[in-house]
Amino acid sequence: MLETLRREVYDLHLELPKYGLVSWTGGNVSARDPETGLVVIKPSGVKYEDLSPEKMVVVDLEGQVVEGELKYSSDTLSHLYIYRHRPDVNGVVHTHSRYATAFAALGRPIPVVLTAIADEFGGPIPCGGFALIGGEEIGKVVVESIGDSPAVLLKHHGVFTVGPTAEAAVKAAVMVEEVAHTVWLALQMGQPEEIPPEDVAKLHYRYSHVYGQ
Ligand code: 13P
Ligand code: ZN
Repeated sequence: MLETLRREVYDLHLELPKYGLVSWTGGNVSARDPETGLVVIKPSGVKYEDLSPEKMVVVDLEGQVVEGELKYSSDTLSHLYIYRHRPDVNGVVHTHSRYATAFAALGRPIPVVLTAIADEFGGPIPCGGFALIGGEEIGKVVVESIGDSPAVLLKHHGVFTVGPTAEAAVKAAVMVEEVAHTVWLALQMGQPEEIPPEDVAKLHYRYSHVYGQ
């Protein structure tokens, strides 16, 4: 079932260790099939090198397993909450990537002090409150605090990103860590100034509508 999407979600999981965004079994990726509404997600607590397309779990939006032998990711109900509340979202990614999670440990948003932040996120990367793992509480915090950004930090936990596709959500997870690292370096040398909101809006527009091929 959903063979192509299983393969895609598996391939995207491999991007997380490749970019140094996860350790051991932390983090997860899911994708919603726009036609059936079913969601493909990582099994819980399986090492990245032991994953395969067949080990992915297919669930419906209410959390009923449709296909899969293994127990689904601990964050599944939160991913599903996000899909139910964001019809524009078909991909969700979660990591504990180091520099971004350092901001999350402090409950601090990442300020918009780089063009890359304005381009990709259209403003500061917000930080939502603390929520326990296992139910849909994390999903509620994500939906409440993410706004128009593709990324949000979760206090004391890590990063959640969303996108129209799972690949877009993975890209956002890579970019969050990239900018968090640079902002952290800048903070060691001083207090960076924020880019004025009108320039943030212009940068974001250009990146979204003009940039690239
Ligand atoms: P899973 O292995 O259950 O996906 O958990 C990883 C994680 O990061 C929980 O927040
Ligand atoms: Zn986590």
